[in-house]
Amino acid sequence: MAVPKRRTSKTRKRKRRTHFKLTVPGMVVCDNCGEMKLAHRVCKECGHYKGREIIKDSTEDMAEEAEE
Ligand SMILES: [Zn+2]
Repeated sequence: MAVPKRRTSKTRKRKRRTHFKLTVPGMVVCDNCGEMKLAHRVCKECGHYKGREIIKDSTEDMAEEAEE
């Protein structure tokens, strides 16, 4: 089994980790409102997808459902 000849220094380890992603994969900036949203899904902040409004004021619908 291959074994590392030298211990990886703190500097080498940290330099390697500079390429680690900072944002969660699958998150993109919404074209409409600029919020972070899941890719290929309707934005939950503004209800837009591909430049069109899909959901109209979801908070209002939620309130109505709670009353019933
Ligand atoms: Zn949005």
